[in-house]
Amino acid sequence: MKCALVTGGSRGIGKAICIKMAAMGYYVLVNYKSNETEAKDTLSQIAGNGELVQFDVADKEQVQQVLAAWVAANPEKYIEVLVNNAGIKDDGLMLWMKDEQWDKVIDTSLGGFFYVTRFVLNSMLLKRYGRIINVVSLSGLKGLPGQTNYSAAKGGVIAATKALAQEVGRKGITVNAVAPGFVKTDMTAGIDEKEMAVLIPVRRFGNPEEVAHAVAFLASPESGYITAQVISVNGGLYS
Ligand code: NAP
Repeated sequence: MKCALVTGGSRGIGKAICIKMAAMGYYVLVNYKSNETEAKDTLSQIAGNGELVQFDVADKEQVQQVLAAWVAANPEKYIEVLVNNAGIKDDGLMLWMKDEQWDKVIDTSLGGFFYVTRFVLNSMLLKRYGRIINVVSLSGLKGLPGQTNYSAAKGGVIAATKALAQEVGRKGITVNAVAPGFVKTDMTAGIDEKEMAVLIPVRRFGNPEEVAHAVAFLASPESGYITAQVISVNGGLYS
């Protein structure tokens, strides 16, 4: 059975990606860190066509332990699509940024990408097929003030996307990234859309489903000749 693993699938963009992957016919592994209620809601929205896998992507032992146990218990299933979506922000000007603010943002986006992808890669290489999609950010392309930690984390994932794509291209595995601008989720709940919208050519924030659409495009078998790319889903805010 073909599976898609979506990290941070309990809320926001990750939830929309889980729903889209299920609509594409995948059995979806819905990862989350702590919000079990929302993770169960995702599972109910995909009509139970998947399961919850709880782990902190920033914790390498947990990633290894939970995914190894899942593989051992499910020899007939295979993770064909990996969407590294889990991410957090903890903004502040660099001068006042604490070590923990730097570490946890880097560890979640960049560390999480490394730990989860490294685990999943082996079986993709054996099957000679895979789709890896990393949800990055406008911040990782442009850099945003107040987000040196977040911009570094996402910029790092963009560079790793391009490097890994070159390592595994001949094995039938594509590695791409999707870079959202402002999308309506819990992460942007404190930002005034009306105030920001004047800067966005499309004049509004995006919806999680619009990001999921780009992820689904890259996840499809027909996208086999697209790799090492970053697709922006930002209403034209930056290009
Ligand atoms: P969100 O609504 O805050 O949801 C974050 C998701 O990530 C939740 O499912 C959360 O799980 C999960 N998560 C956080 N830390 C985790 C960890 N250590 N291990 C496993 N799961 C973890 O965020 P979002 O707006 O949907 O963002 C999704 C991705 O898009 C992130 O990578 C973010 O940086 C990126 N992005 C978002 C925007 C935007 O405007 N919203 C723009 C650019 C990029 P719990 O529910 O268990 O906490």
